[in-house]
Amino acid sequence: MENLLAPSRSSGPLSVSRIPMDYFGESSSTSMPRHFFWECLHLDHDSAVRADVSRQNYSVCPRHWYIDATFKCPRCSKEFQFTAAEQKQWCEELGFYVDSYAKNCPACRHDERKRKSLRHEYDRDIETTLQSTDVDAKKRLATIIDDLCSSEADLPLKIHENRKILGRQIARITSKNDG
Ligand SMILES: [Zn+2]
Repeated sequence: MENLLAPSRSSGPLSVSRIPMDYFGESSSTSMPRHFFWECLHLDHDSAVRADVSRQNYSVCPRHWYIDATFKCPRCSKEFQFTAAEQKQWCEELGFYVDSYAKNCPACRHDERKRKSLRHEYDRDIETTLQSTDVDAKKRLATIIDDLCSSEADLPLKIHENRKILGRQIARITSKNDG
């Protein structure tokens, strides 16, 4: 690992073309530096997929192979596979930096995306919804806050206060409509 950043022997600036042939495991996935798969529990070299490094976003170390890798999700403690196909998509289609890898399992990643999108919707709509008389919009935001509360322990106090205000507004409008 300490050799990774060693200067190249030839003169001129360090470039990938001057790095010795198998420096990052070009010939075989098994000779890729192990720290490329940091915190990984298991690597399945049999299903390794050759990468197109010209499509990768990297500074010094390209990834010549994508390897089915097993990780433990820090959120739910379940084991999951970050597959070679997913790695290829991340590095070659989505343009993610080659060092990025899936930290959480797919279910937790899905939850996290949903939570972020709810939070975004809350932040975008809360001011206008508090001012409006649209009871459905108020109910929608109240539900969003309840969902956020169930997945996030320390929401800002302001959000809890707004939840109470929404509850009172909904009760008032509903009772007015009933009476
Ligand atoms: Zn998980």
